[in-house]
Amino acid sequence: MSEPANKIRLLMDLRRAGITDTNVLSAIERVPREAFIPTAFQDRAYEDTALPIASGQTISQPYVVAFMTAALELGPRMRVLEIGTGSGYQAAVLSYLARRVFTIERQRDLLIAAEPLFERLRLTNISARYGDGFKGWPEAAPFDRIIVTAAAPEVPQILIDQLSDEGGILIVPVGSSGNQTVMKVRRTGEAVETESLLPVRFVPMLKGTES
Ligand code: SAH
Repeated sequence: MSEPANKIRLLMDLRRAGITDTNVLSAIERVPREAFIPTAFQDRAYEDTALPIASGQTISQPYVVAFMTAALELGPRMRVLEIGTGSGYQAAVLSYLARRVFTIERQRDLLIAAEPLFERLRLTNISARYGDGFKGWPEAAPFDRIIVTAAAPEVPQILIDQLSDEGGILIVPVGSSGNQTVMKVRRTGEAVETESLLPVRFVPMLKGTES
């Protein structure tokens, strides 16, 4: 099947699976997922599955990207922080829905591959940096929204601290391998409300940096 046909089928599958947010669906439509996927898996770019990228990491399943993006309740003026740039695909989707996207990756080779892609696709509102996502991005905080795309052992308090205290939302998979749940954390003042949304399987968030 040709690429546009594959993409249309994926969008229909997402809708059928309960993704109804039309802004999220059109952001997914605009991002060429094949650009973020290794040559060996090009023909599977629009399958609704996670796929391997470099450094033993994965590009998330489109359904999970769509679900977590919808859960962020993004608005066009918002500043968003992503932890775990990976291929850059999730950041690209966010870039169509928010004013500015900050993304942190702890593996230099992945960051080095993602940055020129953002440039090539003219996603000029993405700032990417190498670092440990457990520390967040204090110089750019507070963020209206934060999304973590690796599994944390618990909701990271530092990220809650870097969230806007006027209804800031953090979406983060929490748990150990095989038993993770996407959590939605909403901050109002110092009050924090937590809700569990979806069972998932993500690679674990690792402490520190390495290249
Ligand atoms: N959002 C990515 C999927 C990322 S997979 C995409 O759309 O392709 C998870 C990523 O989180 C991996 O690239 C991994 O290296 C990164 N990661 C793990 N622990 C991290 C940490 N402490 N800080 C920043 N990135 C981290």
